Amino acid sequence: MTIQENVPLAPLTTLQVGGSAHYFAELRREDDVREAAQFAKSRNLPLFVLGGGSNLVVADSGWPGLVLRIAIGGITTQSTDASGNAVLFSVGAGVNWDDFVAQAVVQNCAGVECLSGIPGSVGGTPVQNVGAYGQEVADTIESVRALDLKEDRIVVLPKPACGFRYRTSIFNTTERGRYVILRVNFRLKRGGVPSLKYADLQKYFAERLAEKKTPPSLAEVREAVRDIRRSKGMLIVPGDDECRSAGSFFKNPVLSDAQFKDLAERAAAKGLEIPSYPALDAQRKVSAAWLVEHSGFSKGYGEGAAGISHKHALALVNRGDAKASDVVGLKDEIQHGVQEAWGILLEPEPVLVGF
Ligand SMILES: Cc1cc2nc3c(=O)[nH]c(=O)nc-3n(C[C@H](O)[C@H](O)[C@H](O)COP(=O)(O)OP(=O)(O)OC[C@H]3O[C@@H](n4cnc5c(N)ncnc54)[C@H](O)[C@@H]3O)c2cc1C
Repeated sequence: MTIQENVPLAPLTTLQVGGSAHYFAELRREDDVREAAQFAKSRNLPLFVLGGGSNLVVADSGWPGLVLRIAIGGITTQSTDASGNAVLFSVGAGVNWDDFVAQAVVQNCAGVECLSGIPGSVGGTPVQNVGAYGQEVADTIESVRALDLKEDRIVVLPKPACGFRYRTSIFNTTERGRYVILRVNFRLKRGGVPSLKYADLQKYFAERLAEKKTPPSLAEVREAVRDIRRSKGMLIVPGDDECRSAGSFFKNPVLSDAQFKDLAERAAAKGLEIPSYPALDAQRKVSAAWLVEHSGFSKGYGEGAAGISHKHALALVNRGDAKASDVVGLKDEIQHGVQEAWGILLEPEPVLVGF
């Protein structure tokens, strides 16, 4: 295990802002993760676990302690029933998420096809229970293997212990900072039908679905999801400045009845109607994108180095030479504007590191 000093973090993130890690180690083996954690503990250094850096805003001052970049690889599969159709994939935390999805689809295994094109590592996905187009990783995660820093031992957390909810798990709430995820075990279904719950996907395949011909295959759904994501700046395409972002910057707020009533009254007073989406309504969520766009922040907003994407109202983009402070300044401005207009405080989705 090698510990490096003063390693710039911006190039290791999709938003590409922020300073350096005081200490940095890239780790491919579980033993090395343990050793690096000991190094930090013995020197009283704050620890930060880095995956693919796609959900982060790193402060301009960087990280004062040790950054562990998890690069544990390997995908193994095992059939777990007599028919051979229930397949357990054990995937190293450092595997690129989309590479795993591609492999699952090639093996004709359903369960993660709608999560195609999400950047980052496999180990990053349980943290905020990554989701898109009608699927979330909690649907297929069987267990998570992790180093428990509190007890200094390796544990296997079955799904119920992970506390998955919308963009939430124990890893980013009650037990934040306690576990380093080493492997994730997914149970997928060989020969399963692709999920077409989401309106965008139904629209994409409208003709085929109407004609009741052969339903789309897993591979076709994967390509459709990537196409739709590309059109929204939600697929990392080299050379496309619109995807120098951390994805959606704000979560869709989950409202109480009283908050929803207040929102509806404010909308009516402005002659507006709150849009209704079955996928959001079921969880009493309101579209954060709608709130942002109806608070004076349209796509392309912002004159400075940080702005709103031209393709997606929720993506804050680094237009080239933005600093973390520019991004956070824009975040504050949007939060303030939405709160003034609608009485709702939007919660950021990316993790703010070193602030
Ligand atoms: C263009 C774009 C589109 C996106 N689309 C979506 C989307 O559709 N849906 C969605 O849910 N998210 C989306 N995201 C957000 C992001 O891709 C996911 O949250 C992703 O799973 C983050 O993984 P990562 O490896 O990059 O984690 P990082 O950004 O490196 O880290 C994020 C958090 O996870 C922790 N972490 C990472 N790896 C580990 C580990 N091995 N052990 C313990 N903790 C760890 C970090 O400490 C940090 O707290 C998008 C981002 C971008 C840039």
